Amino acid sequence: MLIYSRLAVSPRQSPLRFSSFVITCPFKILNRGEIPPNLYKTMTIAELTLPQARHLIAGKTLELNGPALEVISPIDGQLLSMVPMGGMNEVDMAVAAAKKAFTAWSAKTLKERVQIFFRYRQLLETHMEELTRLVHIENGKTMDEARAEIEKSMELCEFAVSMPQIIVNEVQEVSRGVEARIEKKPLGVVACISPFNFPNMVPHWTVPNAIVLGNCVILKPSEVVPLSAMRMAELLTEAGLPDGVFQVVHGGKDVVEALCDHPGIQAVSFVGSTAVAKLVYIRATSTLKRCVALGGAKNHLLVLPDAHVEMTASNVVASMSGCAGQRCMAASVMVAVDQVQHIIDRMVDEAKAIVPGKNLGSVISAAAKERIERYITEAEQTGAKILVDGRGATVPGKEGGFYVGPTIIDYVTPDMAVAKEEIFGPVISIVRTKTLDEALEVENSSNYGNAAAVFTQSGSMAKVVMERASAGMIGVNIGVPVPREPFSFGGWNDSKFGMGDITGKSSIEFWTQNKKTSTKWNPEARTNWMS
Ligand code: NAD
Repeated sequence: MLIYSRLAVSPRQSPLRFSSFVITCPFKILNRGEIPPNLYKTMTIAELTLPQARHLIAGKTLELNGPALEVISPIDGQLLSMVPMGGMNEVDMAVAAAKKAFTAWSAKTLKERVQIFFRYRQLLETHMEELTRLVHIENGKTMDEARAEIEKSMELCEFAVSMPQIIVNEVQEVSRGVEARIEKKPLGVVACISPFNFPNMVPHWTVPNAIVLGNCVILKPSEVVPLSAMRMAELLTEAGLPDGVFQVVHGGKDVVEALCDHPGIQAVSFVGSTAVAKLVYIRATSTLKRCVALGGAKNHLLVLPDAHVEMTASNVVASMSGCAGQRCMAASVMVAVDQVQHIIDRMVDEAKAIVPGKNLGSVISAAAKERIERYITEAEQTGAKILVDGRGATVPGKEGGFYVGPTIIDYVTPDMAVAKEEIFGPVISIVRTKTLDEALEVENSSNYGNAAAVFTQSGSMAKVVMERASAGMIGVNIGVPVPREPFSFGGWNDSKFGMGDITGKSSIEFWTQNKKTSTKWNPEARTNWMS
């Protein structure tokens, strides 16, 4: 890790309180203050103002000073920013600022706190095109996919602002003149750690709910996609969020470990790979914090012979190739039950119509491309048949980008690596079985358990899969069965560690603690066993 400047980076004043930076290459950069908001609608990608990745502590961005990494756009390999790689020092500063902010923030009523997020949700809508482009550029997904991500962030804010309608504290007169009540109180300073694949949406799984419920949040975004988090911070400030309530500390392992270890932090949420989710869960709970840690996935779609041909083929292909297969809800194994060749043929046609760089985004890095292609080659060498081959994909004019075309691998056996391990690319492995029981055995044998789906026109067959699949989120004729708000998101098995889910009503329990109060206002009443 080192700091170096391939580009001239010059600090300048933004219209907001943050110092922002303008880089002159590779994109033609306009100053944010010089762009009328409506211009975003007609801007080209080359004209996007990039926020720079800096620690945001107590409402101020820190100068780049210490170890840093390059932030590379996977679309074309261009350098976007440098991201500082923080550690315990920055976490300590952020915790101190958050503790200071917590007193006033937690003293506000829930109805007062949600007002910020009404305004913030509106800002997401106003800045939709800009935020979409930012996700597109830093993550590599298509503009349509990036826009859907921002729309989902808006939906998550809608849940957060509905909290006053959901959380009505409980009160009962438990003896004559004696009232018992339960109130939800915030925890204090909490941390959210996010992965690269949804730079805008995954932080919105946790940040709005945690803040609305009275906590002060330290976000550690993925060091690979740190820019959307900076824009999120700017817009939250514009919406009126006080300094210190939301802070961003950048980095990797060192920051994550510091967040898990710091005695001033009460709870940690994590989303990322299973290997790291396990480490984080063990480390955070060993210092007596609450933790929910979402891990990786290997989602099975069971396709039955009676499934609707067009709908099934297009859903399966969209599930495996959308966001270049880099969704924890992506189809990874298709279990083909009995005679479904007609559906596979149709899937091949669908996959061949997908064009990298047009309706398929890039994968995140050169290393990811190399890993995904290695899985395909290994499957081929061990006897599987490649029906559609995405290896070696390039996009004219974007030769520095990292692309893998959609890939369908047939005659995969359950013991092959492509059937068991998370590939995280636009690849689907077809495992053929004779019966639904066998298909469920394949699904049940996975260590993961994020999502599973069945494609059939039979309600009773669907019911069998709904009952017996070992996954937290089930789709019936839906390839990406994300539970929309207010339903909560979370897998089973090695796809999630900790109690409850990360969104929805579960998150209310996660981000609060119950205060139980008994009151008596009738001194004339006789003392009894509970007074
Ligand atoms: P990752 O596990 O590499 O990184 C996630 C976060 O952990 C990042 O902020 C990173 O800086 C940090 N980190 C990385 N290595 C670490 C270490 N050794 N110790 C401590 N912290 C570390 O995941 P990723 O590559 O960014 O994201 C892809 C993974 O996330 C996939 O496995 C995907 O399935 C999973 N994911 C899961 C869900 C879900 O809901 N279950 C959602 C999105 C992504």
